[in-house]
This record gives sequence, structure tokens and C-alpha cells, in this order.
Amino acid sequence: MTVVELRGVTKTYQGNVTAVRGADLTVGRGELAAIVGPSGSGKSTLLNLIGTLDRPTEGRVIVAGRDIATLGDRALSALRAASIGFVFQQFHLAAGVSALDNVADGLLYAGVRRKERRTLAAAALARVGLAHRAHHRPHELSGGERQRVAIARAVVGEPDLLLADEPTGNLDSAAGASVMDLLRTLNAGGTTVIVITHDGAIADTLPRRIRVHDGMVTG
Ligand code: ADP
Repeated sequence: MTVVELRGVTKTYQGNVTAVRGADLTVGRGELAAIVGPSGSGKSTLLNLIGTLDRPTEGRVIVAGRDIATLGDRALSALRAASIGFVFQQFHLAAGVSALDNVADGLLYAGVRRKERRTLAAAALARVGLAHRAHHRPHELSGGERQRVAIARAVVGEPDLLLADEPTGNLDSAAGASVMDLLRTLNAGGTTVIVITHDGAIADTLPRRIRVHDGMVTG
């Protein structure tokens, strides 16, 4: 089954910058892929399109079986909440809030009751090896641990797709390697994972590399 399909996708920003041109891409369920390319090549634009945060100027984007052109903004938000988990370079955890509640907040828009959210959050923290840090707040955690919390939040709702944007960009190499190991472990458990990176060495450790150059997608 296909999780992401892009057909002839072009994104032109105001001011006439074409950041992605004519992209065709298919990512199947269970894949672990890197989107790799130099700065300015169009990776973030591609992430925004795949993550349904932005709509294409031309072409079709199909995520989790839904053609996003057929969805209004509310339906698109609902699709995103149910189907896509996001992980960012800067973690984006709520300050002063425990790891458990940060993860539980990943289910805020899923219609799950608070008690159940916290139960599922505890299980997700255990999956990322942080059961013993559930009551720590972000400032009491290392960078690598913060990113693990962010990954737990992204997967707590069992999304069809985990999209990670430079997930090791703020980490030292040991913590970065351990975050990549965690993504591999989640993938082995069935999660489809796409990692955006400018780091060829990281991309080379993944089974599939989707290369972006001047807005063009190859591979
Ligand atoms: P990457 O993530 O690979 O660094 P981006 O997708 O951010 O690449 O950018 C691709 C191109 O699109 C760049 O030339 C960038 O300047 C341009 N761009 C990105 N976002 C915008 C925007 N909101 N408005 C205008 N141009 C943009």
C-alpha cells in the first residue's frame, strides 16, 4: 500500500521562486527513506507538501489514500492529525510540561480522553526507552532525550507516516546516532518513516535515498 504519492507536483512561491518542480514520488507502507539534498534544494518545501501543511501549485498529492485537493482545510487538518507524526530539529516540546504530558498532547486532536491519552503516552515513552523520564520536564532532559520525547509524541497516535525534519541537527553525534537507531527500530515495528536531511552520511545509513536537487526529485 502507498502512503505518499506525488504526481507532477510543482510549488511556486510568491515572487516566482519554483522550489519544487514536476516531482513524482511514491513511498510505500513500511518504508524508511531519506530525502537528501543541499540547503535550498527544496527539501522543506517537499516536507510541507508531503505533510499536507501546504498545497501544490500544480500536480496531485495523495497521502494515506486521500487526494488532498479534494479536502477543505478542516478535513486536511483532521487527516494530518490522524495520519502524520512530525519531528523537528528543534524538538518543539512545551516548556514546563512533563514528558508524559508532552506526549499525551500528541493525541489532543484525536478525540481520546485525558486518562487514555496519558496511558497511551506512557506506553509511547516506554517504546522510546524513556519510561523512567516520564515526569521530567524538557529542561531536565538531554537533547537526545528531548528528541526521543518528541518522537514518542509523533508516534503516540500510530500515524501512517512519521516525517522527521533534520531530527539529528541539534544533537551531538552519539545522541544523533541513537535517534537514528530509534527511527530504525520504529520502522522495524511497522512505522513508515521519512527523514529529511542535508547530511549524506545519515542518508547513506537508510535503505532508500530520495535525492532533491534544484527542486527536482530523483530516486
Ligand atoms: P531546503 O529545505 O532544501 O533548504 P527549501 O524548500 O527551504 O529548501 O527552499 C527551496 C527554495 O525555495 C529556496 O530557493 C528558497 O529560498 C525558496 N523558498 C522557500 N520557502 C519560500 C517562501 N515561503 N517564499 C519564497 N521562497 C521560498
